[in-house]
Amino acid sequence: MPEPERAGIMKAMLRPLYVHVPVLRAEAHLDRLGALGLGIELLVTGKDLDEARAETLRVARSVKALGFATTVHAPYDVAPAASDRKVREASRARLADALEVADACAAQNVVVHPGFDELRYSTPSEERAAHGHALDTVEALRARLAPSGATLAVENFFATPAALAGFVDQLPSEGLGICLDLGHAHALSRTPLAEWFALLGPRIVQFHLHDNHGGWDEHLAVGDGTVDYAAFYALSAALGRDIPHVIEGRDAEAAEASVWRLRQHGAPQPGG
Ligand SMILES: [Zn+2]
Repeated sequence: MPEPERAGIMKAMLRPLYVHVPVLRAEAHLDRLGALGLGIELLVTGKDLDEARAETLRVARSVKALGFATTVHAPYDVAPAASDRKVREASRARLADALEVADACAAQNVVVHPGFDELRYSTPSEERAAHGHALDTVEALRARLAPSGATLAVENFFATPAALAGFVDQLPSEGLGICLDLGHAHALSRTPLAEWFALLGPRIVQFHLHDNHGGWDEHLAVGDGTVDYAAFYALSAALGRDIPHVIEGRDAEAAEASVWRLRQHGAPQPGG
């Protein structure tokens, strides 16, 4: 194979667009995702792990065998920053349980919600305690994943970029990064996108892309809301790294519309 052609294929392998799909519905979409040259983010829930564990692992192994680039979204109905010890322990066990799925599909990243929200805390010590609880769990997951080469990606939900930066800076950087969710940053914060990139840019290892009108987390197709995607294209290109762009639309139609719009703005084409 000529060198430039090989280089083009390698580039496409390193930074394909991905689509976020619940793990037990993934197989219905594989033909279409494959035809469009997309990677897959498998969403795993506690119910999947408890009630359909063998099937969940079978799908994860099958997606890997078919050659898809993958990331995993760990269960989000968890509270690793909770003040209640039993709630924290259950959350950590649930998140750790999902790492078996990441192993099965050789996921590049595993996305977790750290569960703290500075608007909830009335004193700095409450906030420090919440961060400390979440740090314990995030560090345990990071250390467990790091030998496999996968990265734990801490996602913004209600947290500000300053809080997230302060959080991840307390942990080793090996195998740890940020998943910047554009929809959450728009609907759940008043911080301009440029500030998210200024504070977190070097730590970003993944994007979640969807849209909304700034009021609630609608998960619309990219371009159907008021997220400033023109600013995003410039800011993400300026990072100068290949970073998985994971589309998190609310359904297949929103995902496919997002694919075409992102490809108009320089996301890699299938096979090129
Ligand atoms: Zn997200």
